[in-house]
Amino acid sequence: MILIMLGAPGTGKGTVASILSKELNIPAVSSGDIFRKAIQDKTELGQEVSSYIERGALVPDELTIKVIEARLNEPDLANGVILDGFPRTAAQAEELDSFLNKNNKKIDLAINLETPREELIERVVNRRICSNSECKTIFNLKLTPPKQDGVCDKCGSKLIQRKDDNEEVMNNRLDSYFKETAPIVDFYKEKGKLTTFEVSERIGVMGKDVAESLIEKLK
Ligand code: AMP
Repeated sequence: MILIMLGAPGTGKGTVASILSKELNIPAVSSGDIFRKAIQDKTELGQEVSSYIERGALVPDELTIKVIEARLNEPDLANGVILDGFPRTAAQAEELDSFLNKNNKKIDLAINLETPREELIERVVNRRICSNSECKTIFNLKLTPPKQDGVCDKCGSKLIQRKDDNEEVMNNRLDSYFKETAPIVDFYKEKGKLTTFEVSERIGVMGKDVAESLIEKLK
């Protein structure tokens, strides 16, 4: 099964992807995580992408596509994947389609999450992530705080704040989302592959609720 997570930064794509990944037993691949790991490991890719990520701009399509297609060719994804953060531009969406076609595969569902802009900024500024790459549990200091300050409830590792999770960079990330990524929602809608959820405190629906409502349908 091939699932795609769509939605602005902070909507809960990572939360939904990680719950679905565990419940459906399909690996989740986050393009942002691949880039952050490359930066942390000081690889050539990390050097190429860091300035884009630091200022909240998109990494160029050519490089992003090369990195994601290489990952998609790895054997652990032979039976399916949940893509979180890719595609993010029309060119990436088109290229993913032709890549999958060539491999006799197709997208099953694009899961689109929508949240009011003010809520997104508030959520991202308060987001803390487990630094253990095997765990990566996401906390929110206001909505879902850890039991002990700065420590992951699940594995006891240190919680970290992403460098780009601040208001200034987040505004740039949202601008690139609305300009470059939001239009691809229609691309999947026209193919009849889209399902959209509002994720908002306003209606009491968070990422885990969306994941729960999807699990039964997808099993
Ligand atoms: P994320 O973890 O999905 O919020 O991504 C963090 C950052 O990585 C983004 O702000 C972009 O700079 C970069 N990035 C992640 N995925 C993509 C993509 N598909 N295309 C271009 N840039 C990306």
